[in-house]
Amino acid sequence: MPAAGFPLGATTMEVEIATIGGYEAVGRQMTAVRAGDDVVIFDMGLNLSKVLIHDNVETERMHSLDLIDMGAIPDDRVMSDLEGDVKAIVPTHGHLDHIGAISKLAHRYDAPIVATPFTIELVKQQIKSEEKFGVQNDLVKMDAGETMSIGERNELEFVNVTHSIIDAINPVLHTPEGSVVYGLDKRMDHSPVIGDPIDMKRFREIGREGEGVLCYIEDCTNAGKKGRTPSESVARRHLKDVMDSVADYDGGIVATTFSSHIARVKSLVEFADDIGRQPVLLGRSMEKYSGTAERLDFVDFPEDLGMYGHRKSVDRTFKRIMNEGKENFLPIVTGHQGEPRAMLTRMGRGETPYELDDGDKVLFSARVIPEPTNEGQRYQSEKLLGMQGARIYDDIHVSGHLREEGHYEMIDALQPKNIIPAHQSLEGFAPYVDLAENMGYKAGRDLHITRNGNMIKLTE
Ligand SMILES: [Zn+2]
Repeated sequence: MPAAGFPLGATTMEVEIATIGGYEAVGRQMTAVRAGDDVVIFDMGLNLSKVLIHDNVETERMHSLDLIDMGAIPDDRVMSDLEGDVKAIVPTHGHLDHIGAISKLAHRYDAPIVATPFTIELVKQQIKSEEKFGVQNDLVKMDAGETMSIGERNELEFVNVTHSIIDAINPVLHTPEGSVVYGLDKRMDHSPVIGDPIDMKRFREIGREGEGVLCYIEDCTNAGKKGRTPSESVARRHLKDVMDSVADYDGGIVATTFSSHIARVKSLVEFADDIGRQPVLLGRSMEKYSGTAERLDFVDFPEDLGMYGHRKSVDRTFKRIMNEGKENFLPIVTGHQGEPRAMLTRMGRGETPYELDDGDKVLFSARVIPEPTNEGQRYQSEKLLGMQGARIYDDIHVSGHLREEGHYEMIDALQPKNIIPAHQSLEGFAPYVDLAENMGYKAGRDLHITRNGNMIKLTE
């Protein structure tokens, strides 16, 4: 007998969400969606602050269970309660809190890793540096706008979004019961510096086609901030203004930003040239991300742009800069969060051949990630640089995450039947819960505030 209200012959499918990681704090994101017998995993990330607390931890050599106990990677043991086969592991973008646990967990699943080309390349590099596990999963490239079937009745689609790293997407799992839209991470950028604007047209279509959106899982990082997150082009203009203001300075200027933020690195490189300085990228992760982006043709850097990762070649470059005159160069270095081993922190401690003089400029094209370890380290780094006479230009930056009005627009576009807030702490969910309740949702009914390791059944 079909359930009351169901037309005879209608087929139904159970859809269930496992909220595995990233639902108690930002970091170690992982969510699984089961639609019938098929399971898709979205993200497998690292909680970097849990790694940083333990000095000298080399995650490359550590076992998954030890990292789970540290709270560094998602506790995926809940996956054994999910009755279905994992058909794909889908990292949304290349930030470590989304891909950083792939090398530790992916080998447990007989499924390909499906992601955009830039993300796949970063995953590949991560797997290569893994020393404990041999990760053999197939790596499948899929671009925004493309789809792939998942089992007999479900389909995976990538929708283009904009974030603080290139080639980011929001994956959508289309099921007979409606779509599950996984909204981590994004901001709404209609004039990005690299790549296409966010595909709001497609989100609006998904909200209205077929059975509509069964569930929306949302990145609540900045839900407590009013208004909208500015475009990367605003950060670019801000940076241009700062660079023009120091154009006549004839001493040292040093800049730092997120190494993975290719659009920002591109702006820094271009503006260095505008003020008659030769840009040079220094630090291991600067070399890694920018080198990868250039190899994959996401960015067209000047042919003679130097990128140096190893300490010896970095120090050699600093020596050359001192010999040929600091006023001719713009070193773009790692260390925007004051990480103890990064280039800028080493410069602050006087451990490099680069000598800072009174009045030299240090540009932070980044914001301190609000987390006690970062805040302490960044404070220390700024003090050390200041003691050598450096002038600090802080916060030349825009965030990669939606604020309140972006969240309003997304709910309005998708009209989801259920919402699961993610990518925050319980406290961080509160402003999002307020917004969603104002839009007619109700916590405990169709607005699911959850923790790590829970299951949410959306259909019977
Ligand atoms: Zn991110």
